[in-house]
Amino acid sequence: MPPFAVEFVYVVSGFLFVLGLKRLSSPVTAPQGNAMAAGAMLLAVVATLLDQQIISYGTLAAGLVVGTVIGALLARLVKMTAMPQLVAVFNGFGGGASALVAAAELLREGGANPGAAEAGAAAIGILVGTVTFSGSAVAFGKLQDLLTQRPVTFPLQKLVSGLVFLALLAGAVMMILGEVGPEMLLAMGGLAFLLGILLVIPIGGADMPVVVSLLNSYSGLAASAAGFVLGNPLLILAGALVGAAGLILTQLMCRAMNRSLANVAFGAFGGGGTVAAGDEGERIVRRTGAEEVAMLLGYASRVIIVPGYGLAVAQAQHEVKKLTDLLRKRGVEVVFAIHPVAGRMPGHMNVLLAEADVSYELLLDLDDANGAMERTDVAVVVGANDVVNPEARKPDSAIAGMPIVDVDRAGNVVVIKRSLSPGFAGIDNPLFYLDHTLMFFSDAREAISDLAREVKEL
Ligand code: NDP
Repeated sequence: MPPFAVEFVYVVSGFLFVLGLKRLSSPVTAPQGNAMAAGAMLLAVVATLLDQQIISYGTLAAGLVVGTVIGALLARLVKMTAMPQLVAVFNGFGGGASALVAAAELLREGGANPGAAEAGAAAIGILVGTVTFSGSAVAFGKLQDLLTQRPVTFPLQKLVSGLVFLALLAGAVMMILGEVGPEMLLAMGGLAFLLGILLVIPIGGADMPVVVSLLNSYSGLAASAAGFVLGNPLLILAGALVGAAGLILTQLMCRAMNRSLANVAFGAFGGGGTVAAGDEGERIVRRTGAEEVAMLLGYASRVIIVPGYGLAVAQAQHEVKKLTDLLRKRGVEVVFAIHPVAGRMPGHMNVLLAEADVSYELLLDLDDANGAMERTDVAVVVGANDVVNPEARKPDSAIAGMPIVDVDRAGNVVVIKRSLSPGFAGIDNPLFYLDHTLMFFSDAREAISDLAREVKEL
């Protein structure tokens, strides 16, 4: 294939990547955007294969088979609730692969002086790619409960991290000056591996999804650097798109929790699961069951359902869809309030509800849901806790300023969860003790299925 044809296909693929990404911004156009970007990647892969400057087709086919088998197994076996750790693994491998490609390309050139630009790009690829790899491994360990969720800190930690970073910078300068032998690359890789661990261990388990999103951005940056080393413009572009998208997502997540990135990275927040002391003795909880809640819902005009992490754990999305259909058949207006950080990863609730065919027209964002709350007869909180915690309105709370779904402003509140235990942030929730709150203690799936049965019998 002539080089200009390969370049042309790369330009078309790059264009489709950008269009595809744009379309991912709305649930209506997202499937199209996904298909577009996947098609663009296929085009790019085919063009690269025809380029003939690559390793043997046999090696590629073997890699393809191994990758396809692992991918297919993961897609079938990994639960929705384990998605954040799976994404962490993907990012880690992406970063690690970019670091290896950058190093291998320098070594392939057999020690010939690669030039400052290429060596600089390789240094960035190795540094950022390896930090992404080891940082993602720690994030995976924390999310999977293999490592402690608590922030791990030790004296002079920031100084040690700073010194390791300075050593890496010095290594990068030496590489630019022509030191690109295997020992140098190994030393850079080793130090970057250590830095990744040092950067992620002091961050609490509660903030891991934000860290995963940031590491996703790093993996894009590493791919871009590898693209510079290989002289592949499409890899540079694709990496830059991943890097920018990951960074924007990280910012959006921080904003949705009303925290700065610096606070996430250095605040050692959460992960302990400790409940703030409250005057438990004087507080009264009003318990309820399926029959009473079915009456409330069946004769309401407007119901807002607020899904949270517990809905994902219980896999109650299909039951929720059934209940919604039954209520709508009775003329009850049912909508969903989607908090941007409900669940454990961005868009978690949208994905779950889409899986159960809940129309996205029924999904309200935070502002619209709160605007409708005073006109709502019943707000049903299903396995959500932090995102409906009125404590966030108090300046001294651990989740101070986090925007919440104002369910306490609805006529009645029903909270479905198994106990009074706290959510991810580990703080008590005064919503449970309000006069117009009914607590339905149950697994979310069982509760919603019982509710659907009772509503049918009304
Ligand atoms: P929370 O973690 O605050 O609360 C979930 C609740 O679900 C728990 O209190 C638990 O109570 C209940 N639960 C667990 N299992 C079940 C079950 N089987 N049936 C019924 N209930 C169950 O979740 P939210 O969605 O409200 O909040 C998300 C949290 O995650 C926030 O703190 C947010 O900041 C954080 N986060 C989210 C990110 C994102 O992108 N989505 C990113 C970073 C952080 P019980 O044990 O009593 O049943």
